[in-house]
Amino acid sequence: MKLSYGLRNEINTQLLTAHKQAQLLTLRAQIMHALRGYGYVPERDFQCYNCRQNLSLADILYGFADHPTINTVTCRYCDYTENHVKLIQRGATLSRAELPFYCASQVLHYFENNHLVILPPEQIEKRAPAYAHSAIVHFGNYNTVFAELGLAYAFDKVPDWLHKVKDFFGKAPDTIIAACVGISVKRVSKARNDLGIPPWNSRKK
Ligand SMILES: [Zn+2]
Repeated sequence: MKLSYGLRNEINTQLLTAHKQAQLLTLRAQIMHALRGYGYVPERDFQCYNCRQNLSLADILYGFADHPTINTVTCRYCDYTENHVKLIQRGATLSRAELPFYCASQVLHYFENNHLVILPPEQIEKRAPAYAHSAIVHFGNYNTVFAELGLAYAFDKVPDWLHKVKDFFGKAPDTIIAACVGISVKRVSKARNDLGIPPWNSRKK
């Protein structure tokens, strides 16, 4: 099974161990939390409906059909294909809001066909919350989603991004930080070099 579309550029281009991939996915979630402080995350301890195995986020991303209209996750342990994973509102305690978690192909298909490029993030999230929050999980930033579609997006500026992500310099690849902030890798690398921090190295533990 292949890794879900949105992470292809960041993670799948390097032959990383499952352990390292899981580590990067966790880092990405931490970076997005540092940047946005709100949002949705895939449900934790998701169990396959058939074999009851716990599927990690990496398992879920691998198991997505990666198809513009099919939203099921195939279990890597038993090959059961009808699992549906939810997104859960981060930090919600009493009434927890849930949304369907769409694969990156579905996100791109929806964003491309609904003219969302003219809307600011709040309006995208109001109009299509499940697609919007799935997009952030896969791509980190709406700029990155629209860039995948070959479109320029003017709205998703993260204020004070340098202050929010500088603790991740050297601990995460510049590509992942850049995708989450929605800016070029070059700008991230320059900011990191300016602080005298060496780049992330995939061979390090
Ligand atoms: Zn299973």
